[in-house]
Amino acid sequence: MIKEVVAKGILIPNKHSENWFGAKYTMNIYRGCEHQCIYCDSRSACYQIENFEDVEVKINALELLHKTLKGKRSKAIVGTGSMSDPYTLCETSYTLTRRALKLIATYGFGIHISTKSDMVRRDLDILKTFQNRVTVAFTITTVDDRLAALVEPFAPSPSRRLAAMKELSDAGIPVGVLMMPILPYIEDSPEGIDRLLESALRHGASFCFWHVGMTCREGQREYYYQKLDEHFPGLKERYIQRYRDRYVCDSPRLVELHERIRDFCDDNGLITDFDSLLERYPEHRAVQSALFSE
Ligand code: SF4
Repeated sequence: MIKEVVAKGILIPNKHSENWFGAKYTMNIYRGCEHQCIYCDSRSACYQIENFEDVEVKINALELLHKTLKGKRSKAIVGTGSMSDPYTLCETSYTLTRRALKLIATYGFGIHISTKSDMVRRDLDILKTFQNRVTVAFTITTVDDRLAALVEPFAPSPSRRLAAMKELSDAGIPVGVLMMPILPYIEDSPEGIDRLLESALRHGASFCFWHVGMTCREGQREYYYQKLDEHFPGLKERYIQRYRDRYVCDSPRLVELHERIRDFCDDNGLITDFDSLLERYPEHRAVQSALFSE
């Protein structure tokens, strides 16, 4: 169900902006997400989202954003896509993300987008106006469209995400891949990881960040286990035996795959740390460094 709500604020300051694409602020226009990934961390009880199937639309997001950006003395990077996908399905009709991007660009701020959707192609005209003060990361956990349909049931397929990545890259937008999570026993085969890396590179990725494993918390865990029982019978028991109630659930192949990914990235010039990323895209860096003058 879609619920329209009036929000109090729209930009949350990030304490460690150097750790996530230089983003000083986080913007979430939606709360809850229609992509319904079975492993979604935003289901965790600590976020107090009563029903993750419902999506709250911050209907006054643009007024709030306008007021907030107008009042800021120095420019910075706004990040979006951490708690909810900015291109969740109802964005098609609400177009709030699109209009927020326009405002952010108009005020001279930079933008970082993380998404699992190819809907971002729609906004390419606006992304181009950021003049390199922009990065777009596509989250891809497998390139197997059939497997993705089980674990990310309502998100556009990885093939569509890769096609969007290529289109943005060809248009000069810095793009890359977030390989996180990599679900233990499901997505952590060396062959699967190689295919994902090669596909990302072929489709224009210039950076890659990863976690060979997942995180699991109360609320999120129960839902995930229920879906494991539906789609991967017997796997829940292996998870319980190995991870119990651990928050960080690394793949048993963590070390091997970590080295494999790092080697691939080094061999092919993919950026793997935020400092280097901000060096590679100096205009993005310039907006980020402006925050120190505040
Ligand atoms: S796209 Fe992201 S926020 Fe949306 S359900 Fe999937 S993991 Fe959660």
